[in-house]
Amino acid sequence: MVVDHASGELSLGISGGRSAAGALVRRIVVVGGGITGLTCALACVRAGAHVEVIEAHASATRLPAHIDVVPNLLRDLARLGVAQACVQRGFAYSGLSVVDERGDEGFRLPTPSLAGPQLPPAVGIALADLLDLLEGAAVRSSVDVHRGCTVNRVDSESGRVIAEDGRVWEADLVLIAAGAGSPLASALLGPARPGVLRHAWWHALLPRPPWLDRSTWMAGSVGRRLLLVPISMSRAGVAVVSTEEASGPTDGYALTRQLKSWGSFPRRIAAAIDPSVPVVLHRVTSWLRDPPWHRGAVLCVGASAHVIAPPFGQSAAQDLEDAVVLGELAAAGLDRPRLLRQFTERRSERVRCLHELTERAALWTTQPEPATDLLQLAGEIDRLVATPA
Ligand SMILES: Cc1cc2nc3c(=O)[nH]c(=O)nc-3n(C[C@H](O)[C@H](O)[C@H](O)COP(=O)(O)OP(=O)(O)OC[C@H]3O[C@@H](n4cnc5c(N)ncnc54)[C@H](O)[C@@H]3O)c2cc1C
Repeated sequence: MVVDHASGELSLGISGGRSAAGALVRRIVVVGGGITGLTCALACVRAGAHVEVIEAHASATRLPAHIDVVPNLLRDLARLGVAQACVQRGFAYSGLSVVDERGDEGFRLPTPSLAGPQLPPAVGIALADLLDLLEGAAVRSSVDVHRGCTVNRVDSESGRVIAEDGRVWEADLVLIAAGAGSPLASALLGPARPGVLRHAWWHALLPRPPWLDRSTWMAGSVGRRLLLVPISMSRAGVAVVSTEEASGPTDGYALTRQLKSWGSFPRRIAAAIDPSVPVVLHRVTSWLRDPPWHRGAVLCVGASAHVIAPPFGQSAAQDLEDAVVLGELAAAGLDRPRLLRQFTERRSERVRCLHELTERAALWTTQPEPATDLLQLAGEIDRLVATPA
């Protein structure tokens, strides 16, 4: 890694020696401009690569949802240089309260400080704000973001990327960051084995209750779970777990009706939600592709390779870990085969462990059984992610 002290910018050696079989990784095309695509782009451009992001949606998401930036996610945002911006846009907090359906606190879990002394332990932020600040940081770092352009074919041998509108890109490395269930990822690596978890999470934004100063998990009677997170001085996000296959309306009226049928705490939340504004019903599964997640010049990252179950905040955190590791390997000046091999070595076993632990914990939230000790599982997850990837 070489640092240009004059500019203060990282100018990382990716022009080192080429191995016999290896192509250097100078040009990277990222398919997908979600959390994974934007953070990978940021990590790779800071490593000295020329990076372009191709995103199907013409405009940024306005999904009314929050992201709970747990300590290891904030640590990795700090490694990409965007944690401070996240703190400024979001709501810094410390600790997780676990409450019952009346809102009485049963216990409080500490949130470790993993992002360093200048940063809080954790942050709540609107999903749209996080994506907006990531895209802004990527563009300022000279990433070219092409919006409103859908990729319909990626040639793994040549690294050629072909869009619906006929545009063609060529890259030394193509990242498929096109989300869960991406046909591009399946065309490359075959269909993913479906996971066992089948949840649906309602997401809504609401005015922040004045007393809400940390993430709050309501563990009510079986099937009644929600997470309330402050995301700014004036707003909060709520995520409500549902196992039912929602067949009826999926609007704010349906969500508030459900909350009003629960205890006094969710009833207070329902009263604060404006049912006429949009909410999201996010169908959540969890699954993992068998490694390796690459073929030829193409690597699947983020939800195109692994979907980690909520509610431990590890889904986006694992996307970020892909980005940080990729950036380090790009900065190390490895040729493509070695970069892909080392990426697999550093990511696949760690993601497998987290996938297994979080899936067991998530299943327990809706089907508690005595063989699972949730606090022990949470401790194992915390210990695993306390060390950077
Ligand atoms: C409502 C909601 C709430 C969430 N809350 C949390 C949370 O609190 N904590 C947490 O850790 N995680 C949360 N997540 C999940 C977390 O955001 C995921 O880990 C993350 O969305 C996965 O990011 P990704 O970039 O891999 O995929 P995606 O977010 O699915 O992004 C993929 C992008 O690729 C684009 N794309 C797809 N195909 C193509 C193509 N062919 N050509 C061009 N572009 C393409 C899509 O338009 C999309 O923008 C939430 C997700 C949602 C939807």
